[in-house]
Amino acid sequence: MNTPNTETGTRNDMPSWSPPAVPVSGSEVPFPVRRIYCVGRNYAEHAREMGGNPEREPPFFFMKPADAIVTDGRMAYPSKTADLQHEIELVVALARGGRDIPVAVALDCVFGYAVGLDMTRRDLQGELKAKGRSWEMGKAFDQSAPISAIVPAGRIGHPRRGAITLSVNSQPRQHGDLADMIWPVADIIANLSGYVTLLPGDLIFTGTPAGVGRVERGDRLQGAVAGVGELALTIVG
Ligand code: MN
Repeated sequence: MNTPNTETGTRNDMPSWSPPAVPVSGSEVPFPVRRIYCVGRNYAEHAREMGGNPEREPPFFFMKPADAIVTDGRMAYPSKTADLQHEIELVVALARGGRDIPVAVALDCVFGYAVGLDMTRRDLQGELKAKGRSWEMGKAFDQSAPISAIVPAGRIGHPRRGAITLSVNSQPRQHGDLADMIWPVADIIANLSGYVTLLPGDLIFTGTPAGVGRVERGDRLQGAVAGVGELALTIVG
C-alpha cells in the first residue's frame, strides 16, 4: 500500500505496536513483557515421564515470543496439532537483569511471580525432536503462554516450596511442589544470564511437574501455585 499521508508527508502504513503486558496485582500499571524464556525438564518426575534423564544436568532453555501471552483466560485451540498439552509452571518476572549474575544476588532481579501455562503441541514437538529439528513450532506458537496477574515479590517474598497444581474440568492432572525443582529460581537466573543478557521485562517459565496431558476444545483448566495465585483458562475455538 505505502500510501503517503498528504498532511504530514509520512507513510501512514507504519505499524503501530505496543509491547504485550501482564496485569500486576494491586497496581494499575501492567508489566511490559520483553522476552519469554522457558526451562525444560526442571522436575525429576516430569523428566522421567518425558523419557529423559532425571539427574541434575545443567538447565536448558527455549523461548516463546512475548506476544504469546494470554491474559484474558481464553486460548484458541491452535492449528497443526491433535495433541495440545498443558504444563503448569511458576513464572518469574524480572525487574532487573544483567550478565553472569551470581546465584547469591539473582533473586534481587525478581519483580514478582505469576502462574503460567507452557502450552505445547506435543505431537509436533515429538516429530521435530525425532528429526533433530528445532522445537519452536511445538512450543512458540500464538497464545502458547497463558499467564495470571504478576504478584510483586515485595508482597509475597520468593516462594521456595508449596504446591503447584493443575486440574482440567475439576479432575486433578498435575501435582508437584516448588521444593522439587531441580534448579531453583536463583540458579535458573544465574545460569540463563551466562547465555544471554537478561533485562527488565523478561519472563522465565521455570518448568513443570509430572502429569502433563492433553486438553480439548471446551476444557476448563485451573492452575495454582501456593503463595502466588491461580490461573483459569478455557480452550475455545
Ligand atoms: Mn515447560
